Amino acid sequence: MAAAGVDFTYDVGGEEVVALEGIDLEIGAGEMLAILGPNGAGKSTLLRLLAGLLEPTRGTLELGGKPVSSWSARQRACLVALVPQSSTALPDVTVEAFVGYGRYSRFRPFQGPSTEDLAAVEAALRAADLVDLGTRPLSELSGGQRQRALIARALAQEAQTLLVDEPTNALDPGHQLGVLDLLADLGESGRSVVVVTHELNLASQFVSRALLLSAGKRVALGPVQDVLVPEILEPVYGSELTFGELPAARGRGLRPFVLPWKRPED
Ligand code: ADP
Ligand code: MG
Repeated sequence: MAAAGVDFTYDVGGEEVVALEGIDLEIGAGEMLAILGPNGAGKSTLLRLLAGLLEPTRGTLELGGKPVSSWSARQRACLVALVPQSSTALPDVTVEAFVGYGRYSRFRPFQGPSTEDLAAVEAALRAADLVDLGTRPLSELSGGQRQRALIARALAQEAQTLLVDEPTNALDPGHQLGVLDLLADLGESGRSVVVVTHELNLASQFVSRALLLSAGKRVALGPVQDVLVPEILEPVYGSELTFGELPAARGRGLRPFVLPWKRPED
């Protein structure tokens, strides 16, 4: 998956809102990449472009070796799955039915779900630790469970690339780690995972590379160790950041952590 020279401008009642400018990015198979940046930086817009839901105003987007726009919606759904922010309104159906929506692009006309469809839903529920909640309505789930249901729906789609928008919002620290662990498992199974997050410390532990956006522009792209440094983050987030380093799980070596900490006035 690749973006080259991508600009995107929203038209808001005849007025142009530039959301992205000159974005270059390549994402390899089996890679987990984080997209970081302040509110309004263009992170969700970039995910929607990569998912083929928006067309770039300028530049090119490639998926599976061809322009994203050359695939039909059905073909695209086999290549890329988007997990939207969990604040998005969800239908009032059971967890199982919702996860089954991930199979829609695979259904053949006038036929019910195939054995592969059922197996994919079951595997997705298992991977997201939702087997016991399959028959519960989505509306009765906790925030963390809803988030896992959104991820499970994308897993059932069995796409090569997963694009995940702020998956840990409103989750407690234990569930935050759980969601990132699940995404990292997918990465290690050979899929590409792109995760938008404000959780710099979660990104640092789990991803290999980070893209930092600010006001629609690429500020940095590289190994997290090279991006989560004061020279790069302070101009974007302000100078009240404290930096350190800790060993990360899965043999990833030393990774930076970043603590927002308002300094005492002396
Ligand atoms: P982020 O996800 O980094 O917070 P977004 O990609 O949602 O940023 O937004 C980038 C810019 O585009 C912001 O200025 C935002 O106001 C604008 N924007 C986002 N979505 C829309 C939309 N549907 N219509 C018009 N402007 C939008
Ligand atoms: Mg967003």
